[in-house]
Amino acid sequence: MSEKTTDALQTAIDQALKADRPRLAKYLSIETVAAKHLGIEETVSVIEQSLQELGAEVEVWRDIPGSNPFVFGTLPAGPNGNSDKTLLFYNHYDVQPAEPLDEWDSEPFQLTEKNGQYVARGVSDDKGEFMLRLSAVKALQATGGLPCNLKFILEGEEEVGSPHIEPMTKKHGAALAADAIIWETGGKDADENFQVTCGVKGTASFNVTAKSAESDLHSSLAAFVDNAVWRLVQGLSTLRGPKGEVLVDGFNDGVKPLTPTEQAAVDQLPFNEEATRKNFGLKLPLLSDKPAEALINRPTITINGISGGYEGNGLKTVLPKEARAQLDCRLVPGQDPRHVSELVQQQLDKNGFSDLHVSYNQGEPAFRSDLTDSFVQTAVATAHEVYGDAVKLVPNAGGSGPQAPFFEAVGVPIIDVGSTWAGSGAHAPNENVRVSDYVQAARYTARVLQNFGEK
Ligand SMILES: [Zn+2]
Repeated sequence: MSEKTTDALQTAIDQALKADRPRLAKYLSIETVAAKHLGIEETVSVIEQSLQELGAEVEVWRDIPGSNPFVFGTLPAGPNGNSDKTLLFYNHYDVQPAEPLDEWDSEPFQLTEKNGQYVARGVSDDKGEFMLRLSAVKALQATGGLPCNLKFILEGEEEVGSPHIEPMTKKHGAALAADAIIWETGGKDADENFQVTCGVKGTASFNVTAKSAESDLHSSLAAFVDNAVWRLVQGLSTLRGPKGEVLVDGFNDGVKPLTPTEQAAVDQLPFNEEATRKNFGLKLPLLSDKPAEALINRPTITINGISGGYEGNGLKTVLPKEARAQLDCRLVPGQDPRHVSELVQQQLDKNGFSDLHVSYNQGEPAFRSDLTDSFVQTAVATAHEVYGDAVKLVPNAGGSGPQAPFFEAVGVPIIDVGSTWAGSGAHAPNENVRVSDYVQAARYTARVLQNFGEK
């Protein structure tokens, strides 16, 4: 692509972002909190209109029982584009609750621009990203047309664990067919490297409960009566070693070692222990000598919370009848969430804690694209073109998302790229993106589509 054409693209991107700013503000002004069932229909109609304005055919799928609507849009390649190639964008339109409200410096559901940042709930995760993708599309349409076919799928329950993605992908797999998928979220790491991430870790969430009597008892009876809180902490303590090792038989069955390409990608990932310690205020030694690798490829078991008995003011010499804990595992490819929670129960049984009861909540398997795939290579090469040397290929994110059912239905590589930076504070008060990153990400999106569509 000549420099002149490239400049024309940048001008078109700048114009599109400027023209689309009111729409970005409108989209962010809706409190689309899935956990509170707020703003869903209003948000869906903004998406519908936004896609239609670009000429897209739009369908709102309401055929998955119990689910918030899915919005699906298609746009054909332009006259000079490659109509044999289709790219699917995944985004979600729901956001996290804004609470705690008193920690926001501006209104959470009002787009505020200050200190070179856009600030609002959802501006980084994930409403802003969808809007910048639409601006990139508009810029491409203004400069020679779309280089490939596009599809968009938006869900409204990502922040509550995407409980209906699997039935949706099973039902609408044919409509979703594409040659590659660009997922939500992504951007720059703490060292300002732009990341091309190729998957997600999985999760399994479950509760463990202990019950030792029908009612709380006088603690004098502890002389001969066992108690639920002790049983729970003793049982849970058998599941993990002091360095974070998961002590559950069969837990790692099916997990394959990293391929040489994955290992090479992991080896070049930076990890700044001092900055991490400071940012998180860490008080204990790290659990791994290779934290960057562990974040990507080490399965974990975590007690999210534990409760039981009395711990309020004053004394209550009670022997508690029951105790509860919620746990999660972060999983790597090859592990099945439900099976993992069954293995935990089996291990507790084996360790002499069959009175503890494991109940599965929900989970998602991990997913990792083939790093040697040509689309991954195109995404990385385009990243170098737009971001220079500061680019890292990341085999998968430390976090999770419903990529596995998409891969099952569509069978193509998935990458996560976006406009966030290390201080974006997704899910936190004062969520933001830097305006310069937003512009750069729109350019990256447009250039990936051009390079992907090249015949
Ligand atoms: Zn998100």
